[in-house]
Amino acid sequence: MTYVIAGGGLAAAKAAAALREQGYDGPLVLVGAEPHLPYERPPLSKSYLQGKSERDKIFVHDAGWYDEHHVDLRLGVEVTEIDRAAHEVVLSTGERLGYAKLLLATGATPRRLPGDALYLRSVDDSERIRDVLAGASRVAIIGAGWIGLEVAAAARLAGVEVTVLEADSQPLLRVLGSRLGSSFADLHREHGVDLRLGVKVEAIGGGVRLADGTHVQADAVIAGIGVRPDTRLAAAAGLEVDDGVLVDASLRTSDPDIFAAGDVARAHHPLLGAHIRVEHWANALNQPAVAAGAMLGRDVSYDRLPYFYTDQYDLGMEYTGYVRPGHADDVVIRGDLAGREYIAFWLEDDKVVAGMNVNVWDVTDDIKTLIRAATPADRARLADPAVPLTEVLA
Ligand SMILES: Cc1cc2nc3c(=O)[nH]c(=O)nc-3n(C[C@H](O)[C@H](O)[C@H](O)COP(=O)(O)OP(=O)(O)OC[C@H]3O[C@@H](n4cnc5c(N)ncnc54)[C@H](O)[C@@H]3O)c2cc1C
Repeated sequence: MTYVIAGGGLAAAKAAAALREQGYDGPLVLVGAEPHLPYERPPLSKSYLQGKSERDKIFVHDAGWYDEHHVDLRLGVEVTEIDRAAHEVVLSTGERLGYAKLLLATGATPRRLPGDALYLRSVDDSERIRDVLAGASRVAIIGAGWIGLEVAAAARLAGVEVTVLEADSQPLLRVLGSRLGSSFADLHREHGVDLRLGVKVEAIGGGVRLADGTHVQADAVIAGIGVRPDTRLAAAAGLEVDDGVLVDASLRTSDPDIFAAGDVARAHHPLLGAHIRVEHWANALNQPAVAAGAMLGRDVSYDRLPYFYTDQYDLGMEYTGYVRPGHADDVVIRGDLAGREYIAFWLEDDKVVAGMNVNVWDVTDDIKTLIRAATPADRARLADPAVPLTEVLA
């Protein structure tokens, strides 16, 4: 009757807690490849990278919690194979472990480039980059996505010269569209970042060589060019995989005894009517309760709207909702875009599908209500800060 969790991040630790909270009192094993207790990653590119928070603040539970809840922790150990016929997983120690139910919470791994670059995924990576920033006078960052921009902000705050190299015409273009991408470009340029857009990296070594022949001098190169879901186990076991382990709304894979949650899962979203994979903290925090319910045979489904946040310099923001790829340019702004105090709404067929509040707080619930209403909004009222968000639907 053993339940096994493959993976040792936030989703894994939350799944262990949810199983116990929901009454599962049988044997529970969590197998995590990293040698650390499961921890949260957002601080690794923000306060922890900046040396403003302590290491013991990142852990999901302390070591005692796993003992108290009888969770058999296998750290520094990998699940190397799922033997579905035998209902067993094979560990890197050679041990075979029987499972009644198995949760895949293997997360994601940075995409890599040829050459000598640093990547940021683990606490060890964050410490290495922090040390590099302490000794460098100039770094090059490849990729102006969330991680690249957060590291750029940390580097500038550490007094390091920063060049950010981005292939698209704006930072965050695919998520935010060009108008808001350009606002993030302004933010970083105002803080002294040498942001080069529309450039192609040709080679890394002693800095970065660009396709146009330019050489960007740097003491270190840090790349943040996205992640790949860690689907190897699932694919090798013959589970359905398509940019993530495919799961239904209850987070069950194509095998009724195997489930997936967090960055690795591509789940059917009942509200959006599509499979989506969300690489964000709130998803890894909240999906496990549903996965645990499904593992215990309950009729559950995950229908929370995607949510994430970032902090860069004095900008704090939250983003709620989901914009289909290629649909990020129909935006209505409420507030002061230049002053970076506003809410942006993305619309499709006049309906709000996502909202981002920048240095404006306590509006996430209203944004969720607008999205869930799935009713056309009046654009003028949406843009007018004098009209309460509860009164903008047409
Ligand atoms: C630097 C950084 C900053 C971030 N900031 C934000 C933010 O500001 N806001 C936000 O919303 N999100 C942020 N995120 C994203 C967020 O951290 C992820 O969505 C979250 O970590 C996903 O959790 P997870 O448990 O699904 O996967 P992971 O955190 O990737 O954990 C998976 C774990 O499983 C282990 N594993 C993999 N394969 C195996 C195997 N076969 N056997 C055993 N163990 C295995 C891995 O080593 C890893 O420890 C950030 C991510 C990073 C890296």
